[in-house]
Amino acid sequence: MAVPLLDLKAQYATIREEIRAAIDRVLEPQQFVLGPEVAVFEREIAAYSRCRYGIGVSSGTDALLVALMAIDIRPDDEIITSPYTFFASVGSIARLGARPVFVDIDPPTYNLDPARIEAAITPRTRAIIPIHLFGQMADMDPILEIAARRNLFLIEDAAQAIGAEYKGKRAGALGHLGCFSFFPSKNLGGYGDGGLVTTNDAQLAQRVRQLRSHGEQSRYEHTRVGGNFRLDALQAAVLRVKLRHVDAWTAARQRNANTYRRLFASRELGELSPPVEAPQRRHVYHQFVVQSTHRDALLATLQRQGIGAAIYYPTPLHLQPCFTSLHYQRGAFPHSEYAAEHSLALPIYPELTPAMQEEVVQAIAAFHHNEKSA
Ligand SMILES: *Cc1c(COP(=O)(O)O)cnc(C)c1O
Repeated sequence: MAVPLLDLKAQYATIREEIRAAIDRVLEPQQFVLGPEVAVFEREIAAYSRCRYGIGVSSGTDALLVALMAIDIRPDDEIITSPYTFFASVGSIARLGARPVFVDIDPPTYNLDPARIEAAITPRTRAIIPIHLFGQMADMDPILEIAARRNLFLIEDAAQAIGAEYKGKRAGALGHLGCFSFFPSKNLGGYGDGGLVTTNDAQLAQRVRQLRSHGEQSRYEHTRVGGNFRLDALQAAVLRVKLRHVDAWTAARQRNANTYRRLFASRELGELSPPVEAPQRRHVYHQFVVQSTHRDALLATLQRQGIGAAIYYPTPLHLQPCFTSLHYQRGAFPHSEYAAEHSLALPIYPELTPAMQEEVVQAIAAFHHNEKSA
């Protein structure tokens, strides 16, 4: 039996009627960009994330870009972030002419290591972007403390972390701004691109709102240069349906994570390091990432058997060709480089069955057995 990394068709089969009704609701009034459907969705996401404002935008990438624009990031400003993330976390910084300043990760959680931030701060530093990677929040208390003491903005990249918690607070509610993605493969995925910015600050909310519509203050009066970063009503309608299910899907992801741990233990797969849940977190398992010292051979074996494992992310961003001008060398961020070379994501989506998980672990166990006898 093939086990895909993600199966959106299986999910659609469980919500087809609700989705079709929601789409019909948008088709009747023929209002497709922003409008009441988006406004209600924004309030629902803000409530879900336990913060005051939500502003729907065109993608997670645009959420990051517009958040940085809202705090007036300019050329030569420096933004501290992690090199072990999806490209957009850092691309958005570079697009404004600002300089990404990388800080290595804390190996067990793959998240920005707070203990290394202070040394990277210079007079040009304007903001810190922790990424809540794979669905687990970064260690926010020390990061918040540094940001407050050094007068820096804090922008959470919560694209993989909707509903994740740190000491009872939700992703997107702790920083000055939080950025979400509704790319179809995310835990809350639309039927196309979409994103959202959260904030508790009325002034920042107003700025993001203005910037997502060309910086218009009132009709045809532009007091800032923004862009078209608007969310479609069809996406909002789909996402409102899916938001009602997201807690059940998160529970299924957590159950699947526990099943993997149990299966690993019963087969004594000590070579494989399962993900670590840091204390006082709600991990929403956007990905279930293990580490293996034989990662590439293991991946090839799984792929040959139709098991959808994948590498997030094979090249840390300080080593990307487009960032050579930042002059980072290999070896600069050893923990990020190690993670890029050894980590492997296994299927964890909510509709995954116990039999499928059994098959994944069976295939891994057989691989390790062959490695030992070879
Ligand atoms: C998906 C993702 C983004 C970008 O979101 P898009 O909606 O694809 O533009 C940004 N940061 C992280 C960590 C992501 O996983």
